[in-house]
Amino acid sequence: MQTYTAPLRDMRFALNELHQDDGFGHLKAHEEFGPELMDAVLEEAARLCQQVLLPINRSGDEEGCHFEQGPDGTSVRTPEGFREAYRQFAEGGWTSLVAPAEWGGQGLPEALGKMVEEMVCATNVSFSLYPGLTSGALAALTAYASDELKQTWLPKMVSGQWSGSMCLTEAHCGTDLGMLRTKAVPAGNGGYKLTGAKIFISAGEHDLTENIVHLVLARLPDAPKGVKGISLFLVPKFLLDDDGNPATRNGVWCTAIEHKTGIKASATCAMQFEDAMGWLVGEPNRGLEAMFTMMNAERVGVGIQGLGIGEAAYQSAVWYAKDRIQGRSLAGAKYPDREADPIIVHPDVRRMLMTMRAYNEGCRGVSAWISRALDAEKHAEDAETREKAADFVALMTPVVKALFTDLGFESASLAVQVYGGHGYIRESGVEQYLRDARISMIYEGTNGIQALDLVGRKMSAHMGRYLRGFFHPVSNFIEANAGDEQLAPFIAGLKRAFEALQGSTSMIAQRGLKDPEEAGAAATDYLRQLGLTAMAYCFAKSVKVAMTQLSQGSDEAEFYGAKIHTARFFFDRILPQTASCYLAIKAGKGSMMALDDAAF
Ligand SMILES: Cc1cc2nc3c(=O)[nH]c(=O)nc-3n(C[C@H](O)[C@H](O)[C@H](O)COP(=O)(O)OP(=O)(O)OC[C@H]3O[C@@H](n4cnc5c(N)ncnc54)[C@H](O)[C@@H]3O)c2cc1C
Repeated sequence: MQTYTAPLRDMRFALNELHQDDGFGHLKAHEEFGPELMDAVLEEAARLCQQVLLPINRSGDEEGCHFEQGPDGTSVRTPEGFREAYRQFAEGGWTSLVAPAEWGGQGLPEALGKMVEEMVCATNVSFSLYPGLTSGALAALTAYASDELKQTWLPKMVSGQWSGSMCLTEAHCGTDLGMLRTKAVPAGNGGYKLTGAKIFISAGEHDLTENIVHLVLARLPDAPKGVKGISLFLVPKFLLDDDGNPATRNGVWCTAIEHKTGIKASATCAMQFEDAMGWLVGEPNRGLEAMFTMMNAERVGVGIQGLGIGEAAYQSAVWYAKDRIQGRSLAGAKYPDREADPIIVHPDVRRMLMTMRAYNEGCRGVSAWISRALDAEKHAEDAETREKAADFVALMTPVVKALFTDLGFESASLAVQVYGGHGYIRESGVEQYLRDARISMIYEGTNGIQALDLVGRKMSAHMGRYLRGFFHPVSNFIEANAGDEQLAPFIAGLKRAFEALQGSTSMIAQRGLKDPEEAGAAATDYLRQLGLTAMAYCFAKSVKVAMTQLSQGSDEAEFYGAKIHTARFFFDRILPQTASCYLAIKAGKGSMMALDDAAF
């Protein structure tokens, strides 16, 4: 059964208690948003997600999207209930939550916005893509579009009346965008005409909004070959009349929708551009740079999809583990009045539940950390803090994207396992989580590409400056708490993981300089090692907060006690994976690259 209650207490913990000392907080721009307001927003978001988005998650998966012939050409109809849900979502102000006030947004902190995103993804990840793509497009337009374009397009995208899409992929190029062929030629009126075909475009066509603003990568005439010859264009579905209302159909059409493994209620569209009017965003031939603003925003958002699904899978598994009775506890019957014990008594089922729980709480801790940096990057008053925050976001974006989605998929798979055969059957609802989670490891750059980004770009950037922004707080925390007896097992575990991470870092740096294939061979293990160490740091900090609260007689002993137990499980049972990552990296590329291509 799909069941979900937003983990508001843990969200408040991550928001208000965990990272107050990270140097990214206390922003003047957010002074007016006190804890009561933030709480009220979280509660209202939970209500909307639980009551509006969750009930159409399964039906949306069953029904999928429909490709139809509309009065003005082809169109896509979303599953029943999606239009009404989107109306409520937009009218409730959720599309404008963190958008800048200048364009009609509410300007609330990203740290809050990411918690709301987690709830949306947990209850309906297909739905999340429609507003998700819009907010990514908003980020790119805010940073790169001309004032005129901003004034024309941003307010209605912020209000949710219009939505956005991201058009990069073509049939012959996904990862390697340097090969893309869509063309743009000057139209003589300051605009451009675009011709070409894109595939796999999420929210490329649908019936939720009255206009769709596509951000499209294309080549200008005589553009240099490769990624240095790509420009970014804004191409609307409808061109506007003099009053700024959608009026004339532009030359961009959805020609088909994909039939997919999961996220079936999200329209994945093949798009045809035929002399479609568009406007340049940013500089000619520097489109990829502008598109990276959108992709980086989306990458963190995709990571949050992994966390959201992981939490929903966990809660659904807990419900089943308490309900399903099979066998007796190894320690003797725990529920003797029942025909058998509920499966939650069995250590192996506990292993699965605790793994999911630890993944979710650990990821939520890291998510709150990067979200605070996202806020500080934009709003900190001094340039030094803005730069520190930007460095941290740059380093952790591929980690959040890849680690959270790997763990979200593992959690969904564990939830199926907890259900046994029933989990494999559609009625259980949990197999949908597995199917929906799978794509998050692929789109917005596969997880393998995230790992290469971490090792190839982020690790070496500015002589290791980005990495230092992560290493310093961890080593400072270890040093500052070295003498704390209660924390000792956590500090010891964190120290071991951190030293191994430093070892891997220097190994990759040295070998990678001589042989880039060595860095490529180490990348995925390194990303996991760094990500798990970041989770360990957040857990160790959580334990410190929890122990302080308990020693002061907190009336939330159950919550803080559980936090410590979950952290212990993480340190005992999950963090040791970092040692195997280290060993795998140390082994080098040899066995990986030894066979000739022909031997496969
Ligand atoms: C449901 C869905 C929704 C999508 N939504 C959008 C969207 O809204 N907009 C959009 O533009 N695109 C979208 N995509 C496309 C998606 O981003 C790409 O599929 C993805 O980036 C991978 O590209 P590809 O499929 O061409 O795989 P390829 O690039 O062919 O990669 C195949 C494999 O090779 C590996 N690989 C490739 N190059 C390298 C390398 N240099 N080093 C190491 N490994 C490498 C990859 O990691 C992968 O494992 C979507 C795709 C799907 C399925």
